[in-house]
Amino acid sequence: MEKRHHKRHSAFMQYDKSRFQMNKRKITTLLKALDEAIGIDETKLAKEIESIGFKCRRCAHCCRAEYGDNTVFIFPSEIRRISEKTHLLRDDFVMPTPSQDRDSKGNIHTFEWILRKNGDCIFLKKGSCGIYESRPYICKTYPFYLMDGRLMISECEGIGGDISEEDCHKLAWLLKERYIAEIKESIALLEKFRGFNPTGSGVCVHDSEGEHWI
Ligand code: SF4
Repeated sequence: MEKRHHKRHSAFMQYDKSRFQMNKRKITTLLKALDEAIGIDETKLAKEIESIGFKCRRCAHCCRAEYGDNTVFIFPSEIRRISEKTHLLRDDFVMPTPSQDRDSKGNIHTFEWILRKNGDCIFLKKGSCGIYESRPYICKTYPFYLMDGRLMISECEGIGGDISEEDCHKLAWLLKERYIAEIKESIALLEKFRGFNPTGSGVCVHDSEGEHWI
């Protein structure tokens, strides 16, 4: 079982300069992975979830710092949805992932957004999620995720709990949707990436929608 609490599909999401020098080859690999992801059998996945068992204990350990890595990676489309619901501005609730990558002018370049934390997730209020209905995929599908098409599990109090057949199917459907979204994000990012150019100053986040200077 995976120790870290929130984990994305690392095979797709680990970006570095050398990978981008092979953009075309990488995109071809991702397109193949996308085909495989679209072909995932949700019924089989639901049965797997059922055999593992899961019932959320409402402990909020996955949102808290003291129980492990509570980092939540978030897509541009998810940022927009939360912004619309909460009327918060992007930079009020997300920040670029820390990075050591610098361009020739010393600006920092990074490839993902994460939810802000004050130790715990900033949306955790009195033990409940303040954006429950619009929470990111990572939170909706926790403690499960797919890697190379296989079901993976993060550490969680709820593993082994009773889960209805209907909830297994909902979770399987969401996991597949998340996995496809992650691959599509990676493809769009690679297609838009134009290198570490100092076209702004400060920190540059490269994502599926282009460059964002902060
Ligand atoms: S967004 Fe909600 S569910 Fe996700 S880590 Fe924050 S409080 Fe927890």
